[in-house]
Amino acid sequence: MLNCSLPMIDAHIHLDLYNPADAQQIMDECQSCGIKRVIAVSMNLASSLVNQEWLQRYPEQVKVAYGFHPEQKLPSEAECQQLFDWINQHQTEMVAIGEVGLPYYTQLEAKNNGQAFSQKPYIQLLERFVQIADLYQKPIILHAVYEDAEIACDLLEQYNVTKAHFHWFKGSEETTRRMSRNGYYISVTPDVVYEPEIQQLVRQYPLEQMMVETDGPWPFEGPFTGQITHPSMMKESCAVIASMKGLSIEETASILYHNTKRFYGV
Ligand SMILES: [Zn+2]
Repeated sequence: MLNCSLPMIDAHIHLDLYNPADAQQIMDECQSCGIKRVIAVSMNLASSLVNQEWLQRYPEQVKVAYGFHPEQKLPSEAECQQLFDWINQHQTEMVAIGEVGLPYYTQLEAKNNGQAFSQKPYIQLLERFVQIADLYQKPIILHAVYEDAEIACDLLEQYNVTKAHFHWFKGSEETTRRMSRNGYYISVTPDVVYEPEIQQLVRQYPLEQMMVETDGPWPFEGPFTGQITHPSMMKESCAVIASMKGLSIEETASILYHNTKRFYGV
């Protein structure tokens, strides 16, 4: 049994995508599991409104980010404007812009189905979010994997935005080096327990720029098969990261916790 008193922060969770009773149970259990905070990211405006309710109910434990998840149909210009206006009105309550990024999996699926797909409007939308992050001086939470991470890096460099969090990152060694050099952070999900690709990334990336997350309610495999994704799963992630970095679990958890606190200012 892992030490349950280790303070931890779930750096990326979709509270609004859980069935409300499950989300409630998670929030009730967080304290006894040592989960001090969760960073609740948003899919779009409707999702931002739900996360805002969680923030109002749990102002200490829930910290929110507002944005538009790239793996969905593009919003109309009117919808974009509504979201930007809303972010503008609520920017003091959010700790970051997110989740935003590029539609890697949607594009892959379109390609596999022989359908045409234009990434360009998604890149333009991401550029607007980078500008907003820069304007409000907030961190930006990115869904940008493999080749898409390079496009995200180009935009971040163009606007000199350095507070970037690539959640559940996967990509080439070269891009990984570019990201760590630029001071960007990554976060690791519970799949680090059973995915060699993620274990390799953990070996390569500086622990000082790493966080842990669940991306809940996204389900996991291996020892987590069939379980509702819960922030307490991050203890297992921590144990694996600790063994890869040759540190104790306590030391590793403490570094990850302080990284997240520092990055999000929470
Ligand atoms: Zn996510």
